[in-house]
Amino acid sequence: MLKGKIALVTGSTSGIGLGIARRLAAAGADIALNGFGDAAEIEKLRSGLAEEFGVRVVFAPADIGKAAEAAAMVGAVEKQLGRLDVLVNNAGIQFVSPVESFPVEKWDAVIAINLSGAFYAIRAALPGMKARGFGRIVNISSAHGLVASKEKSAYVTAKHGLLGLTKVVALENAELDLTCNAICPGWVLTPLVQEQIDERAAKGGISVEQAKRELLGEKQPNLRFATPEDIAEAAMYLCGPGSRAVTGIALSVDGGWTAQ
Ligand code: NAD
Repeated sequence: MLKGKIALVTGSTSGIGLGIARRLAAAGADIALNGFGDAAEIEKLRSGLAEEFGVRVVFAPADIGKAAEAAAMVGAVEKQLGRLDVLVNNAGIQFVSPVESFPVEKWDAVIAINLSGAFYAIRAALPGMKARGFGRIVNISSAHGLVASKEKSAYVTAKHGLLGLTKVVALENAELDLTCNAICPGWVLTPLVQEQIDERAAKGGISVEQAKRELLGEKQPNLRFATPEDIAEAAMYLCGPGSRAVTGIALSVDGGWTAQ
């Protein structure tokens, strides 16, 4: 379905981003990976994807929280793969603390990576997409883009802001075949969430399994973690031809979290 399209997925060396990159590659898109990690591991991912799906795969390194690096990343992908059709803004970090003790540098980092990073990449990708009259932009927000939880002020602020940015980009490009949508995942068992589970287990003196049950029980009515593949299917829908009339939405994949 995406044969001949070029897709960049930020934060695709792990978790949800990697799941999305795999899904888009399986649909025939050439892929630009981005994210942190061991160089040899990343090269293994890159060559593995290319071989498994028979598509071109490049690695476009950048700290997405830095405007110049994000713009250079988009430019490098356009140069190496010819253009950019699909941009998935997925890179993100978490930090948990009450507001009054939330370290300012952690606030700045979460806002830079989870919110400004998407703006930097979109800003750099739009001229090419507009010139060709085609684009698919998918922003990975969160259930925390729609509702809040305690101790996640920066994350909740960034993810709410990302939904605002999604709507503006959708409106500005609505007359083209250029959509911008967001996905709002609930709990997905990735390194980002495993860290929160481990902290909860350590703090409460409970087992990791018990911490997982508590986490799900508090928020996610289906009592199951979503998988990166579940989120990737939603991304595939928003990048594929069946969603041409869909723009500016927040698509929840959250096991009922925000239905409560
Ligand atoms: P993860 O920690 O497994 O992956 C994060 C990815 O982002 C990694 O590839 C990492 O290298 C990359 N990254 C981090 N900082 C970066 C930076 N400055 N520049 C470029 N890349 C950077 O986390 P995940 O759970 O897969 O999260 C992916 C996205 O999904 C995030 O935006 C997160 O907020 C969102 N999300 C996750 C969940 C969940 O339950 N896991 C729920 C809702 C939303």
